[in-house]
Amino acid sequence: MTTATLQEPATGFQSLELSPSVQAALNRAQYHQPTPIQAAVIPHALTGRDVIGQAQTGTGKTAAFLLPFLNSWQDTNEPGPQAVVLAPTRELVVQVTQEALKLAPSKHFRALAVYGGQRFGEQLRALKKGVNLVVGTPGRVLDHLGRGTLVLGRVRYAVLDEADRMLDIGFRPDIERILRHCPQQRQTLLLSATLPGPVLRLAQRYMHEPHHINLSPERPTVHTIRQSYITVDEDRKFDLLVRVLDRENPRQCIIFCQRKRDADRLYRTLREQRKRVSTMHGDLAQPLRDRIMQYFRDGKIVCLVATDVVGRGIDVTGISHIINYDLPEDADNYVHRIGRTGRMGKDGVAISFVTPEEGERLTQIEVCVNSLIRQDQIEGFESFRPRIKVETPEAPKKAVPVFGRPVRRYSNRL
Ligand code: AMP
Repeated sequence: MTTATLQEPATGFQSLELSPSVQAALNRAQYHQPTPIQAAVIPHALTGRDVIGQAQTGTGKTAAFLLPFLNSWQDTNEPGPQAVVLAPTRELVVQVTQEALKLAPSKHFRALAVYGGQRFGEQLRALKKGVNLVVGTPGRVLDHLGRGTLVLGRVRYAVLDEADRMLDIGFRPDIERILRHCPQQRQTLLLSATLPGPVLRLAQRYMHEPHHINLSPERPTVHTIRQSYITVDEDRKFDLLVRVLDRENPRQCIIFCQRKRDADRLYRTLREQRKRVSTMHGDLAQPLRDRIMQYFRDGKIVCLVATDVVGRGIDVTGISHIINYDLPEDADNYVHRIGRTGRMGKDGVAISFVTPEEGERLTQIEVCVNSLIRQDQIEGFESFRPRIKVETPEAPKKAVPVFGRPVRRYSNRL
């Protein structure tokens, strides 16, 4: 495996030697400059090499892995698909498919999203007509392979998007089975925010001398996002939310709840007070989820009350605010949630509601983002210090390791 970091500044897509029809599609999409991950990945992928791209979402990585394939695609009625992209969630699958259609070099280019929860019949009809690119969640792709309704014998370009996330949710056997359906003579790209052991092992087994590009910062930092927290008792969270929304007047915001039930309840209360509110969680039927995501992308929904089902990968550039109505249980999820704003270098605001018991969790998040989060004040809401465990004299004075580092003390918050 060869390794590189970003070597040279991007100087426009012309320098990448893409075909005139792809250049025209880029112009239509108004993409004038490649993002760093695009400038780093595309030249290597264009040579036919396998590539591992380590990059966070919101950096343009979808186009980075789609453009090399679109560039080589020819309108020859060749039976397809010639490329397959695997992604962990339905929303990402839809997003990648839309990006492929946006950047397609010809109106004859056909991309199909296949994911669970969508009617089989529709997918079957589209597959029968023939598609050039299949973008799918591993489970549904495997279903089609099992029924013989999808054949990957002509795939020459395979992409694993958000590979770490796919492995997190146990897709490894599915991914391996799908890759075994593809010809060995193919190009494989793997995109991942982190490269833990299982991802590397997958890469070693299914890739050929991949070129490794690492644009992920050492720690997940989110510089363009103004982060703050407000302390509040559990039973006053809704009043606080109303005040925060009045003060901030977000262009678009996601309000994150920890549980589906709570998201639903909050949505019902909030919609009595505000217009253009909706909700998104795993209990909603897929067609409804798709419709809500589309409305949200189109800016028709201003406040989306959601669970972590939208915490990863979703890209809606209009999101100005993230409100953590409930703090996430896992500090990594905090980073993914707030990464929904501040996309493509835009500013974003992330405000977290913290109850008196949640001091430890806040500390873990601060350790994870490697900075202290500012305390914000709203009139009528008394600020207090979130509690952290107090060590008794009997207990040995040993710092509790969190993510390999000691818990930060709160003396600076007094
Ligand atoms: P991604 O990280 O692939 O989810 O992309 C984030 C957003 O950036 C999407 O809305 C893309 O349409 C947009 N985008 C990707 N590449 C470019 C580019 N070179 N110029 C402008 N916008 C881009």
